[in-house]
Amino acid sequence: MTANPYPLGLRLAGRRVVVVGGGAVATRRVPALLDAGADVLLVSPELTPALRAHVDAGRLHWEPRRFIPTDLDGAWLVQVAVDDRAAAAAVSAAAAERRIFCVRADDRAAATAWTPAVTRHGPVTVAVLGGGDPRRAMTVRDAIRDLLAARPPAPPTGPGYPGAAAPAGGGGDARGVAAAGAGRVALVGAGPGDPELITVKGWRLLTGADVVVADRLVPGLLLDELRPDVELVDASKIPYGPSRAQEEINRILVDRALAGKFVVRLKGGDPYVFGRGGEELLACAEAGVPVTVVPGVTSAIAVPAVAGIPVTHRAVAHEFTVVSGHVAPDSPGSLVRWDALARLRGTLVILMGLKNLAAITATLIAHGRAPSAPVAVVQEGTTGSQRVLRSTLGAVAEEVVAAGMRPPAVVVVGDVVDALASAGAAEAVRGAHPAPGAQA
Ligand code: SAH
Repeated sequence: MTANPYPLGLRLAGRRVVVVGGGAVATRRVPALLDAGADVLLVSPELTPALRAHVDAGRLHWEPRRFIPTDLDGAWLVQVAVDDRAAAAAVSAAAAERRIFCVRADDRAAATAWTPAVTRHGPVTVAVLGGGDPRRAMTVRDAIRDLLAARPPAPPTGPGYPGAAAPAGGGGDARGVAAAGAGRVALVGAGPGDPELITVKGWRLLTGADVVVADRLVPGLLLDELRPDVELVDASKIPYGPSRAQEEINRILVDRALAGKFVVRLKGGDPYVFGRGGEELLACAEAGVPVTVVPGVTSAIAVPAVAGIPVTHRAVAHEFTVVSGHVAPDSPGSLVRWDALARLRGTLVILMGLKNLAAITATLIAHGRAPSAPVAVVQEGTTGSQRVLRSTLGAVAEEVVAAGMRPPAVVVVGDVVDALASAGAAEAVRGAHPAPGAQA
């Protein structure tokens, strides 16, 4: 009977690790070594393009030749990623002589160390060894990964980790009571509407939050899954005018963070695309509250995409411009050069554009954009209530009113609106999507 392996977490930062071989196995092994900060020496006459990119970027050293035993001088670990048995055995022998652990891709029995199947979840790393059966290890790892993704993680600990919470003396609520000064804010983009379009990082932080301050446009299903003890602040219900309301939101973020809470400010789409995320960051910075920014999938790109409209397309549009329509073109407060936008050839994506659509389209036409330019209006994109109206620049304002379309909606102007339509591709895109919110 073989003895059990002894699990360890190797801290490789700045330590020499030798990888012998430059093929598919090495390509898969190198990124985790670099992620661990290892000083990687790659020995191989040939490299895959991915490995060459690491070399070109200066992330590792490459000896373009076959292995010689002195390559291992000064190394802490060696990974053998060659098919050639005899060559691999020579590396093993040189490693054994120097008392360096040797991972063998070609022969588990000959190896002195095994690489586990791994899943990473923020600061937590789970490594699974399958008792000699890599498939079993992967099956177990996959199950753990699903579990970690589906459930709020245990209260994270460790310095610097957003949401790090120190248990209160006397065994209080460990999650809610953080060490003084440990509070922080994460500005998280929630994506455009489909709850699955939040990022992995955004989701992880959300599930670790003590307080969530959410916008009106944030997918309700994301909030549905929060733990009952999380304080949920609905920013759209704050009963003042827009600027007072923003001050109030800033105050809530800062107060809760200074009280030691981990606050997630969850915003529709991306936090910095017409989201006032910058103001919230400044308010936190002024109060000395640390902030993490997690970008989101913006409706400006994602809503057209899901409706079958690419914002760029080869030979059709080599640019796209995203503009807010929330201030009328003739208003003294407008910062947008609509006359210049009218002369662009490419795609124009207008957010918050329904209220002023008649004035916007008239201005674009007056300054030279063709009344026949294709336009699509997508209401509540990426959700189960998505509606798409296709029209032209000259007709769209009236048709939107006639169709009773309401915000939130994205208006797309340009030939990309028809780029995929002829091939029935828009329908293909729509058909491929499960009903938003449905579990795959
Ligand atoms: N930060 C957000 C945009 C905030 S401004 C983002 O990056 O997506 C709000 C505007 O975004 C809405 O008026 C609308 O124009 C657009 N929008 C957001 N979600 C949308 C959706 N699901 N469907 C259509 N438009 C949407």
